[in-house]
Amino acid sequence: EKFIIIGAGILGASTAYHLAKSGADVTVIDRKDQGQATDAAAGIVCPWVSQRRNKAWYKLAKNGACFYPGLIRELENEGEKNTGYARVGAISLHTESKKLLDMEKRALSRKDDAPEIGEIQVLTPSETRSLFPPLAEEYGSVHISGAARVDGRALRDSLLRSAKRHGATIINDDASLICSGNRVTEVKTSLESYSANTVIITSGAWAHQLLQPMGINFQVSFQKAQIVHLQLAEISTNEWPVVMPQGNQYIVPFDNGKIVIGATHEDNTGYDIRQTVGGMQEIFQKALHVAPGLSDGTYLETRVGFRPFTPGFLPVIGPLPNYENILVANGLGASGLTMGPYLGSGLAKLARRENIDIDLNDYDVAAAIQSF
Ligand code: FAD
Repeated sequence: EKFIIIGAGILGASTAYHLAKSGADVTVIDRKDQGQATDAAAGIVCPWVSQRRNKAWYKLAKNGACFYPGLIRELENEGEKNTGYARVGAISLHTESKKLLDMEKRALSRKDDAPEIGEIQVLTPSETRSLFPPLAEEYGSVHISGAARVDGRALRDSLLRSAKRHGATIINDDASLICSGNRVTEVKTSLESYSANTVIITSGAWAHQLLQPMGINFQVSFQKAQIVHLQLAEISTNEWPVVMPQGNQYIVPFDNGKIVIGATHEDNTGYDIRQTVGGMQEIFQKALHVAPGLSDGTYLETRVGFRPFTPGFLPVIGPLPNYENILVANGLGASGLTMGPYLGSGLAKLARRENIDIDLNDYDVAAAIQSF
């Protein structure tokens, strides 16, 4: 059986890896759009303190975080040295001790069901700063030892390299679908056309255009994010935890002085991949307010990505209604690095008609389709 995957962000890359590893014949076609979410993303894996109440969302995020250590071990055993993942813990900040205790309580209440959360501890401002020295003085924190950070670009590449080692073919081109009745018969690129038994669509913010010629109105919206990379001199940041202030900003340290700060949440921008003055100002202002010690960092770059959202901000995964051989997953939104590897392994099993532990009724693709 032949599988074609369209889109190689974190979702398509994980699907390709798991399918190829199981021995399947896999072709991945990816257009490398500027604004690929995975390429810009960095990368908090810490779903347990979220205040979002949607149970179906939480289940994916929680299982996604839990899935990571095993996958990383597997990739390392295959010789992958740079997966971009490290379990460095996270500090969730607040200035009021009552709020810190509430956060601790929320995290503890989730521990029974998610032991991978690790140790949960309230830290004083000075303990907090000793873990992340650039911070302002007033922040206490809840430390969560099981949290991790991941570099989306590095993990994607690691998965695609491994998929290739297991025999997958990777093509960088634009893909379109040729259908007959309720089946895809061919996938066309600018140079060639490929026949496939099953087509898997993991095309993020661009999936609508792929399905539109078939008369399908696939409801994926997207939100632009700008995110800034900095370099600190002569300091080892390898063990520094992820910093989660109140609000939707964050600071993610990587090895050798690299620090990522972000991100913006910009609606209705279209596919605008510009790094804007206003976007960067917002990021710098918020980050330096929390961590003034970053002001001496060297500015490296600003990346831009489009977070894909399906209705209700809930991902969809499963067969495309009324078609026999198309699978779709999308809508990973702001937590796609957390969920992507796990959902990709689920997609690979679905493609091979194996049982999966995801209840597809909760993430029905039909919910994202509107008839014309
Ligand atoms: P994408 O990564 O966007 O990949 C889609 C791919 O499909 C693209 O490469 C595109 O070129 C290709 N494609 C589309 N149409 C076609 C076609 N017709 N032919 C060929 N190729 C096609 N998540 C977390 O869990 N934690 C975080 O801290 C976090 N931070 C983030 C920070 C930023 C700045 C951004 C932008 C996102 C962040 N996310 C985070 C979210 C996460 O990155 C996304 O949810 C996830 O990467 C989405 O992956 P995807 O594979 O669905 O889509």
